[in-house]
Amino acid sequence: MRRRLGLSMTAAALLMSSSLASHAASEVNIYSYRQPFLIEPLLQAFTEETGIRTNLIFAKKGLETRIKAEGEFSPADLLLSTDVGRLQAAKNQGIAQPVSSEILHQNIPARFRDETDQWFGLTTRARVVYASNERVADTEITYEDLADPKWKGRICTRSGQHDYTIGLIASMIVNDGEEATKTWLEGVKANLARRPTGDDRAQVKAVYAGECDIALGNTYYMGKMQTNDKEPEQKEWAKSVRILFPNSKDRGTHVNISGMMLTKYAPNKDNAIKLMEFLSSAKAQQIYAEGNFEYPVRQDIEPSELVKSWGSLTPDAVALGKIADARQKASELVDIVDFDAGAR
Ligand code: FE
Repeated sequence: MRRRLGLSMTAAALLMSSSLASHAASEVNIYSYRQPFLIEPLLQAFTEETGIRTNLIFAKKGLETRIKAEGEFSPADLLLSTDVGRLQAAKNQGIAQPVSSEILHQNIPARFRDETDQWFGLTTRARVVYASNERVADTEITYEDLADPKWKGRICTRSGQHDYTIGLIASMIVNDGEEATKTWLEGVKANLARRPTGDDRAQVKAVYAGECDIALGNTYYMGKMQTNDKEPEQKEWAKSVRILFPNSKDRGTHVNISGMMLTKYAPNKDNAIKLMEFLSSAKAQQIYAEGNFEYPVRQDIEPSELVKSWGSLTPDAVALGKIADARQKASELVDIVDFDAGAR
């Protein structure tokens, strides 16, 4: 018996307040940063196939802290997240456990999973250039090119400290080295059309409005804008740009993942591993990637037609875990060059 008497007050309170504190045999409990609408179709298919029920708790932040605080009494089996930084941080906090699964190894390429099997990628998204159809003729670009003075006053991006930007800068550190990345970052800063502000879509909107000629953003936002019936003006923003996949001709484009990890004290470990394996299956990969205009991690599954229409993605071959480890340095560089002050 792992569950013993003598829970701390905090653990006991958390346990009782949790809606997941049931001990029924055939279920799996998921803490998720991914929105329920993306995951629920998959969970339904999983339950139909296996008879294992799923319970989902969604939050925008704090799930690792919660798992840590709940300790060995945590009902959480799986953490679903976007951004490898979060998964790596969870691993470093000691709240994950390794999963040894032939199926996961076969389905998920090594660069999209942790080398100690403590997290696994499920979908990828690339950090790309959105180029103005009117004002940019280039058909190819590298991240390194973004520091070229020819782009002076023409680039828009969100904050340097945002997870997405940090991931890109970390990939530059791994590929080009720290010194070169600092010089590069200063060059990009000097080319900014305005102070970094707003989210990825706001940068594309700025290209549409003529404030800048190229913007940095994640690929799936193209899909979200192109299909946005609630805010149809976003379809116009999308029409004003096309995606260029940086470094397609050399090391490949920087990608990040959405992924999963098994918690250290997972009470339904066997069921959780079944779900992990299911999420890496061909069927689940397709549904999951299409739901958010992402790319399946599996190389044998094609992205959706809409995603394919943007061009073809060659992901950076460097292991994502290595890039995750460079994030701290990346964040320091952003401060050192005072990136978020803009070009001035
Ligand atoms: Fe996003």
